This record gives sequence, C-alpha cells and structure tokens, in this order.
Amino acid sequence: MEKQNVPEIFGSMVFDDRVMKSRLSAKVYKSLRKTIDENADLDEEVAEAVAEQMRDWALEKGATHYTHWFQPLTGITAEKHDSFITPSPDGGVIMEFSGKELIKGEPDASSFPSGGLRATFEARGYTAWDPTSYAFIKDHTLCIPTAFCSYGGDALDKKTPLLRSMQALNRQAKRILKLFGKDVKNVRTSVGPEQEYFLIDKEMFEKRPDLVYTGRTLFGAMPPKGQELDDHYFGVIKPRVSAFMEDLNSELWKLGILAKTEHNEVAPAQHELAPIFSTTNVATDNNQLTMEIMQKVARKHGLVCLLHEKPFAGVNGSGKHNNWSMATDEGSNLLSPGETPYENAQFLLFLCAVIKAVDEYQDLLRLSVATAGNDHRLGANEAPPAIISVFLGDELSAILDAIKNDAPYEGKEKEVMKLGVHALPKFSKDTTDRNRTSPFAFTGNKFEFRSLGSANSIACCNIMLNASVAESLRQFADSLEGSKDFESDLHELIKKTIKEHERILFNGNGYTDDWVKEATEVRGLSNLKTTADAMPHLLDEKNKEMLMRHKVFTEAELTSRCEIMLENYCKTVNIEGHTMVDMVRKNYLPAIEGYMYSLARTTSLMKSVSDNVKCVYEVTTLEKLSQLTDSIMESVVTLEKALADLNGYEDITETSVAVRDKVLPAMETLRKYVDEAEMLVGEKCWPFPGYGKLLFSVY
Ligand code: ADP
Ligand code: MG
Repeated sequence: MEKQNVPEIFGSMVFDDRVMKSRLSAKVYKSLRKTIDENADLDEEVAEAVAEQMRDWALEKGATHYTHWFQPLTGITAEKHDSFITPSPDGGVIMEFSGKELIKGEPDASSFPSGGLRATFEARGYTAWDPTSYAFIKDHTLCIPTAFCSYGGDALDKKTPLLRSMQALNRQAKRILKLFGKDVKNVRTSVGPEQEYFLIDKEMFEKRPDLVYTGRTLFGAMPPKGQELDDHYFGVIKPRVSAFMEDLNSELWKLGILAKTEHNEVAPAQHELAPIFSTTNVATDNNQLTMEIMQKVARKHGLVCLLHEKPFAGVNGSGKHNNWSMATDEGSNLLSPGETPYENAQFLLFLCAVIKAVDEYQDLLRLSVATAGNDHRLGANEAPPAIISVFLGDELSAILDAIKNDAPYEGKEKEVMKLGVHALPKFSKDTTDRNRTSPFAFTGNKFEFRSLGSANSIACCNIMLNASVAESLRQFADSLEGSKDFESDLHELIKKTIKEHERILFNGNGYTDDWVKEATEVRGLSNLKTTADAMPHLLDEKNKEMLMRHKVFTEAELTSRCEIMLENYCKTVNIEGHTMVDMVRKNYLPAIEGYMYSLARTTSLMKSVSDNVKCVYEVTTLEKLSQLTDSIMESVVTLEKALADLNGYEDITETSVAVRDKVLPAMETLRKYVDEAEMLVGEKCWPFPGYGKLLFSVY
C-alpha cells in the first residue's frame, strides 16, 4: 500500500468545521455554528446557503448522489440515494440540491419496523437533518446524518431519543453547575466505544450456511486448540489482518473517524478497534459507520468481518465497551476528580448521580443491550454478568465509605471528610487494578459500560444512561436549589445517596456463584438473564414515568420499541432454528448416513474376504453414529415442532418466552449430537468446514 499522509487524508470526506469555515460566508457560518452548539433553530436562508456549498464540495469530491442517512430500529443504518441531477431545458442535466432537500427527506417508511406506530394509511415518515453530526461522502454519495420520525412526530429511529436524552442531561446538569456558580452553555456526554470483531476467510465463510444466514456458527466441534494458550491476545498481527487494518484505518480517517487503537483479542481470529472518544451522537454515527466499513473493507481483502456477539461456541464472543463521561462546552470533565475541595464536592455529586442512576435503572441498562446475540455472552463467564453493578476501585470506595460513616478516611490524612471543607485525598487513577468482570466500572475520569454486544447500536445504552443520570441530577437540583446552607445540605445529600445506593457498588469478582447469590438474595439486584426476561421491563411504571418525564420517549414509542425488540429476538432465533433444521436434514444427516454406509460396506466386504478381520473401528463407529443419527433425528423433530408452535401465540411476550424455553433448548440439544458426530466422521465426508479451518486459516 502506498504511503499515506494521515493529517492530509483525515476528514477529507467530511463536511466538517474546517470546510464550513472556508466555504460558508461569515454570517452563514456563525448562524450554523449557533445551531450546532446551542441547538438554535436553523433558518431557511442559512439552510439554502449550506446546501449549495455542500453540493459544490460533494461534486468536487466526485459525488453524484445524496442520501439522508438514518438509523431505523433494525439497528443498522439506512439510506436511499437520490442523484443530484435535474433536467435542464437544453436536454442536458444540471446538478441541484436545495436547502429543503438538506433539511428534510421523505423515505417510504412502510418497510421499517415501527411496532404499530405508523398506521398503514400513513406510511410516510420523514428524516430531519442533524446538523451536530457532520455530513460525509461514502461511495460517491453525500450522506446527511438525520433523525427519522413519523408524521405524527413519533421517533422511528435510535437517534431521535438519543438526542432527546442528551438534551435532558444537558438541562439537568446545567442546573447543578449553576449551584456551583458555573454558568455553562452546554453539558454533553462523550463516548469512546471499543469495538471487537472476528475476521475469517471469505471462502470458508461462504461454505457455512449458518454464518451466511445468521452471522454465527450453529454447529461445530471444538478443534484441538482454542484460546487456552493466550497466544493471540495482543499477539503479532498477521500480514493479511494487518493489511486489512491499514486499509480500514485509512477509510475511517477519511471519514473523520478517530480510529486509534487496534490489537488482537483473546479468541483466535478476534480483534479490537478503539477510536478516540467524541460527543455521543457523533460517536454513535461513527460507530455505525465503523461497523459498516469494517465489513466492506474485509471483503476487499478476501475476508469476512463477523460482528455477531458469539460467532463461535467455546471461545470468547465479541463485546463493545461504552466509555462514557460528561463534559462542559469548556471541556471540563465532570467525572474528573478536581484539585480544590469545591471541585471535589462537585465531582462526588456527579459521581453519586451516576451511582444512583445505575442502581435505580439497572433494568433499563440491562435491556438496552439485550439481543438474541448478546444473550450468549452476558453471564457466560467471559463477559460481565447479566447483573448490573458498579465498580469504583478500593480507593474511591474507601472515600465514599468515610463520607457515609462520618469516619476518618484511612488515606494520608486521618480526618473526617467534610465536603466543601476538606480536600479529597488524592487517589490514583486506577489503571492496574482493572476489574474485568464488572459491567460498569469507573476508570479514573469516565465510566466504562461493558455489557454491550459487538453488534449493538451504542445509541440504546446511551439513551438510558443519559436519561437516568438526568433523573438523578433533577432530583439533586430540586433538593439543593434554594438551600440555605448549601455546603452542609450537599454533604448530607451525598451521604444519603451513598447509603441508599451502596448495594449497587461491588468491587469483587462478578463471575462467581457467590456474587449471583449475594446480588440477588441479599442485595436485591435484578438478574435478567435473557432478552425475553429483560425487555418487558421497558414498560414498568417507574421506567415509563422517568423516560416520559424527560421527554426521551412517549408512551406509544415505548410500547412500540418493546414490541420491536422482542420481535427482533424471536425472528433472530426463528431464523437460526430453521437454518439448523435445514443444515441437518439436507447436509448433516445425509453426510453421516453416507459415512455409515461406507463403514458398513467396508465391514461386510472385509469380512467376506477373511474371517479373521475384526473391523473394530468400523463397527464401533457405525454403532455410535447410528445412535447419534437417531438422537439427531429425534431432536430435529422436537426443534421443528417448537418452531411451528411459535405461530400459535398472539402475544409477542408469550412468543419470546417460548423462544427462550422451547426453541433455544431444542437448538442446544440438536447441536450437541451433531457436534459429537463431527468428531467421528472423516473430515472429507463432513459437509462444512470445521472450527479449525474457520478460526485458523487467515495468515
Ligand atoms: P483504557 O485503555 O485504559 O481502557 P483508553 O484511554 O484507551 O482506556 O480509553 C478507552 C476508550 O475510552 C477510548 O475510546 C478513549 O477515547 C475513551 N475515553 C477516554 N477518555 C474518555 C472520556 N473522558 N469520555 C469518554 N470516553 C473516553
Ligand atoms: Mg476498555
């Protein structure tokens, strides 16, 4: 690959601030910035001027089309391309793009999931420009990041509620900062999502219908080697993978995505990419784009990028870490411990807001990452447990304890902590003592939510995180505004919050059975193991009340989302089940049968030649395979019945319970027998490439 000048290519395909500044008139630029920075309304004239410059810029970069780029509830991005062409009187065309076309689009919404929000007589939805996320060019198309709504105003996407949740947090955080004498323009949340993925050979991928249809292997016996040697993690990157990464970085950089860190992960063929953090809605757009471009670039290298949470049983699955913090427009991080007593009190208040939010809305955080794919990871001793808890590290925990008990902190000063009076003891950023088993960990100046699946849109968890923290801050502001003795009321509030929510704090090993017992039986934390268990809590009164109070969702939007997510769970497993049936009946059983036939023939042939041959291998294998084919047959019939029964339910919640209790267990049983057979049948006779080939064939 030719040498690249990174600063030069960085953002070259983005209509970013540099481009705006250089192309727009001072007046238009100023007005657009006001919209971006302060959510000010955008007037038509400005939109017109921006559209014109955007078009010229895009044409210079070779674009022929434009699209409103949005994130419907399918979880992936959607685009409908229109070319810039307009016929001119002389029979030719001119390239046009108006302010109206920039601001608003009207894709036919009828084929996107809406959960009943969009009545069929009103199939149209509309997309509205999100000027806070820059437009960019991809595949000769100018992509305009947008929000997607129905004509009734209901959100049909993940971005609208995300923007609303950011607003809610902004509103409440500013109230708190005012109490500390700070008048800031904006508080925004930032996210740096670390993305895991697998890369496998395209030729192998295409031979596996389960990978093609479902993104994961539904069968496959373990090869002799898995991840037990820990030789892949941070290992030397293989040349093909390295070429892929180089290409990927360059594509991401062109799109202004701050791809920063890349390394091999724990499982063979598993890797990770982390960008530098950015504002949540931009980080969300960028993560969606990153996932898309990863897949595209992989194909160019004869590889396939698997974003599924559990592509292979027996080795680690893929997750995503959502590093999250809140910062003012002046760049001060509200989760950063400060230098002065006053700053520290403010830090502790924001910290407590998060602790309270996570405790009160554990279920919302859990369900925000719930999908059929991610259910394979959470609680499976490789990813955080399904129980949500907060890790603070020993030092910060000791400080909170000292505050709670009015006790001396055992740090360097032996003094009773009085907020606003005493400086917080300095505690070191916790970099070594990383508790990898915690789903929600404080890492010095940010929280890392680790329960996300690799394919999840990060919008979902950030909506819940922003909204629930906004709710804590609202309650704090309500109680502190108008206080006669701010310092002492603040102290009491922090103390009370620690006392009320300390059950969510846990620094120990989240993988142990003891923790599950303690968390659920002693502390009363929720343990929502599957999507079917978690999702219905979206409609719990307390959750609805909070999300509606902050105008993040309407009641109708919540009902529809719950339905869509459960439907998605059921459909995903349904496709997996049918794929299994298909593979077993069309490929596995015939292959095993063929192998048994050759064993039987060999045996009788050999015995006809000599009475002294025993045919131990042939006979024992044949007997075992014959038992297995009986079991496989029985299990495939059970699975078929479980799948057929799904049609009998009216209600999606009931269907999801049947998926959890009937279909998934039937799939597991069927797989077990087929995998056993794989260990006995000659490789040449096996219809699909096995795990060894899938995991170890990229060099
Ligand atoms: P570590 O390697 O210790 O996990 P990094 O510094 O590599 O931490 O950060 C991991 C991710 O967290 C990166 O995407 C990084 O940009 C992001 N990050 C760092 N600081 C913040 C912050 N204040 N808010 C949100 N994300 C952050
Ligand atoms: Mg991390």
